Amino acid sequence: MRPFAYERAADAATAVALVAERPGAAFLGGGTNLVDHMRLGLARPELLVDVSRLPHDTIAARPDGGVRIGAAVRNSDLAADPLIRERYPLLAGAVLAGASGQLRNLATTGGNLLQRTRCPYFQDLTTPCNKRSPGTGCSALEGFHRGHAILGASERCVAVHPSDMAVALTAPDATVRVLGPDGERAIPVGEFQRLPGERPDPDTVLAHGELITAVDLPPLPPAMAARSGYRKVRERASFAFALVSVAAALEVRDGVARRARVALGGVAHRPWRRALAEEALAGAPAFAQRPAGGGPLRIAATNGPGQAAPFRRGARRGRAAPRSVAAARRVPDGVAPRGRRSGRGAPGRRAVRCGCPAGRAHAPVAGWGAAGAGGRGAVAVSLRSGPPRGCRGPS
Ligand SMILES: Cc1cc2nc3c(=O)[nH]c(=O)nc-3n(C[C@H](O)[C@H](O)[C@H](O)COP(=O)(O)OP(=O)(O)OC[C@H]3O[C@@H](n4cnc5c(N)ncnc54)[C@H](O)[C@@H]3O)c2cc1C
Ligand code: SF4
Repeated sequence: MRPFAYERAADAATAVALVAERPGAAFLGGGTNLVDHMRLGLARPELLVDVSRLPHDTIAARPDGGVRIGAAVRNSDLAADPLIRERYPLLAGAVLAGASGQLRNLATTGGNLLQRTRCPYFQDLTTPCNKRSPGTGCSALEGFHRGHAILGASERCVAVHPSDMAVALTAPDATVRVLGPDGERAIPVGEFQRLPGERPDPDTVLAHGELITAVDLPPLPPAMAARSGYRKVRERASFAFALVSVAAALEVRDGVARRARVALGGVAHRPWRRALAEEALAGAPAFAQRPAGGGPLRIAATNGPGQAAPFRRGARRGRAAPRSVAAARRVPDGVAPRGRRSGRGAPGRRAVRCGCPAGRAHAPVAGWGAAGAGGRGAVAVSLRSGPPRGCRGPS
């Protein structure tokens, strides 16, 4: 690791001045992402300015019924805060779905929003990566991209943003408060992370030297808060990033959904707000359980035409579709979509032809399964405890 200087800022203005005047300086929150990157040689700051002990460590009710979360509030404190648990249970749930207890004890609100993608090529200095080294290419397009973007990606980068917290802040339209050399500004959280476009290297719209000081949450009507939540699908029950996640809040009256807020995680370079799904859900009958055959809940994941971009050579990113999560892709339970049944999937998770009435391929065992096009990019099959009903096993 390259030697670096360390300073603890006494106040926000000093921290901003220290970083803004040195291109090689960086803010340090809990260090759970930045220090990892320094060890990997991915980040090489010459000065770390510690902002984790600035007086931004409180969570306060605002007069309009909303809440202000200081940027130095630790993830554990955020998830345990009574105000957050009562008014924004989806946020408390999202934070608890991330990382581990030890990491959450260190990680800060500001640092969480600025954590970088978990694309393996981004962290591997020996491979081309436009985000790490602009102009070198994107290794994921032709390589391992099972957890990569299906929405808003570009030919330059198909990485996804990993923060669970950011998804839960996007559904209620939070605002990120920032202090920079030119003063303060407020950025809607939905515009805070960028889409990759031609230049995937900057993750966010922040300029060098801009410090996150707080996040403001607007009031969420109690009826909505009561019917809100965060669901995350991942490869392990804990300590894993989202394959897909959804933060959703619904206001239900007389058995009908009146208003909805939906944001998806793990599918794009930023949390993906689903206005279309919100419109479709408003006025729809609300079910305590998903009705047979799916129906309304699946709307959350459908795109406008042409939005889901296939990767090169027709390969698509694979993603597990849970049986009960609103964000599930439109994949029949346990069954790989037609036309992609012959390829290889992830090692040891080969899709097989079986004796199903429909004669489709599927993963024969519990957990994840994958079928691919020519061994590249997998298509999704469901999380389930066995083969589809009627299956007579591999043929
Ligand atoms: C094993 C492991 C598993 C994980 N699993 C998950 C998961 O499932 N879900 C999830 O969401 N996250 C997960 N994480 C990521 C974790 O949540 C982040 O590492 C953490 O939130 C980052 O916060 P931090 O305060 O430590 O940031 P730091 O590492 O200190 O900083 C991260 C970035 O933010 C900048 N920064 C920090 N504070 C500020 C500020 N106030 N203003 C401007 N810039 C700032 C830093 O300069 C740096 O660029 C995991 C991490 C690990 C190591
Ligand atoms: S997806 Fe983005 S982060 Fe990953 S290799 Fe491609 S350019 Fe790099």
